[in-house]
Amino acid sequence: MTIAAIREDIRKHIKRPVLPEGPTNAALVFVGEAGGETEERLGRPFVGRSGKFLDKELAKFGFNRTDVYITNVVKYRCVGPPEEKDVKKCEKWLAAELKEISPKVVVLLGKTAENNTPRLNGIAYLALPHPSAAMRFTKMRKKFEEGMEQLKLLH
Ligand code: URA
Repeated sequence: MTIAAIREDIRKHIKRPVLPEGPTNAALVFVGEAGGETEERLGRPFVGRSGKFLDKELAKFGFNRTDVYITNVVKYRCVGPPEEKDVKKCEKWLAAELKEISPKVVVLLGKTAENNTPRLNGIAYLALPHPSAAMRFTKMRKKFEEGMEQLKLLH
């Protein structure tokens, strides 16, 4: 299934979708949890406060946001952590996205991504703290940046 078709399918089934974005041949994929208020309003992932942080961190480590593919486990806004039914509803899309893009590395942002992202052969996975934790807590930021440092070998 192409990424365009996946986006179309999400649109068809979700009233206010937060659609994945980025190049379909990206070497690097970031998986977050679910959209927040800003993401729901704009229909785009990581465009609120944690998105601003993520953008800054990407730039700091030599990546351009437009060069990476950004998605979430849940393709709509959740208030609080997603429930099992939200994850279930969206799981086929995330699996299809990773299969189609087949990136070098998938970065799992936070526990929801770490625990609910399918592992595909031939793809490396790196679990990092969620940006919303990394931007608040020094220890988490340090972990986050140590992980970002490892990604530099991709360029
Ligand atoms: N915005 C997203 O798109 N995903 C998150 O996990 C958090 C904020």
